[in-house]
Amino acid sequence: MFKALMVEKDDDGKTSASVQELSLDQLPEGDVTVAVAYSTVNYKDGLCIGPGGGLVRNYPHVPGIDMAGTVEASDDPRYKAGDKVVLTGWRVGEAYWGGYSQKARVRADWLVPLPDGLDTRQAMAVGTAGFTAMLAVMALEDHGIKDGPVLVTGAAGGVGSVATAILANLGYEVAAVTGRPETGDYLKSLGAGRIVARDEINEITRRPLEAETWGGCVDAVGGEMLARVLGQMKYGASVSAVGLAGGAGLPASVIPFLLRGVNLLGIDSVMQPYDNRVRAWARIAKDLPMDKLEAMIQPATLNDLPQLGRDILQGQVKGRVVVDVN
Ligand code: NDP
Repeated sequence: MFKALMVEKDDDGKTSASVQELSLDQLPEGDVTVAVAYSTVNYKDGLCIGPGGGLVRNYPHVPGIDMAGTVEASDDPRYKAGDKVVLTGWRVGEAYWGGYSQKARVRADWLVPLPDGLDTRQAMAVGTAGFTAMLAVMALEDHGIKDGPVLVTGAAGGVGSVATAILANLGYEVAAVTGRPETGDYLKSLGAGRIVARDEINEITRRPLEAETWGGCVDAVGGEMLARVLGQMKYGASVSAVGLAGGAGLPASVIPFLLRGVNLLGIDSVMQPYDNRVRAWARIAKDLPMDKLEAMIQPATLNDLPQLGRDILQGQVKGRVVVDVN
């Protein structure tokens, strides 16, 4: 028997989450059984612990879009018992049972070997949020980061915190946008050189172009903030569009694309091909300072998840939650 966070739906369509005891034969089919060590809490997890947000199809459901642990049994030649692995994306924790469980059964194709230099706890401090932040930085690098500060929006959140720490460590001046002024010292400790108040940048302006300010941007917010930022990018600079914490709409003008050659780069972590996953995890192990990662960690257990799920949907989680499922 082992423990998992189970979300059930009642006849009125209302969901509720509780920690329950399960047996191995209740796990779904898959070629690799993982003894999960740690998971984490992302925005999507907040949706899946709660009402589902259209992501969960079948109940009862075990959420948790990320997991790291040790292979216990494998029918796939790529993995053997004792291997350390990490899993993010592929709709695990949404369409499939996820990492809020002491045991998980998954497809070998979804796994990535834990990179040298990271342990399972650190991998989950990174999680989908940090992995996506790395993909966003790699996309900016591939298109060329221009002189000038690199803007990170939603900076005190998971994606933003990791993006801030990586970019600062790579030597860029980071301007961190936050709506929570009390996180200023935290963001500076991650390496932000400048704090930008959310109010300064989230109001839509009628001017499609403003002063050329940012050499690149990792955007976790979307909506009006992203629309505004596009008009503030330096000539030829790029924005990695990662998230929609501030809205899925984009009330933007095409003028920054046409007159300043600005690039808007879409970042998806879920269906990311294996080779690029391996590349991103290797870069994380190399370019994310582990002391900065440690400073982002808020520890939690399976029992804390219902509350944390509500908190993250309200933008109230700082940095990265690491869930010790055991
Ligand atoms: P978090 O909740 O940890 O961070 C989001 C941050 O955005 C908040 O901490 C807050 O930062 C800011 N924010 C929240 N609400 C608003 C608002 N109304 N207006 C402006 N800023 C706001 O979430 P994550 O970092 O885990 O994820 C960030 C986004 O990225 C989410 O939308 C998520 O769905 C998306 N995402 C996308 C992925 C992909 O593959 N493309 C993968 C992972 C995440 P502050 O307090 O500093 O202002």
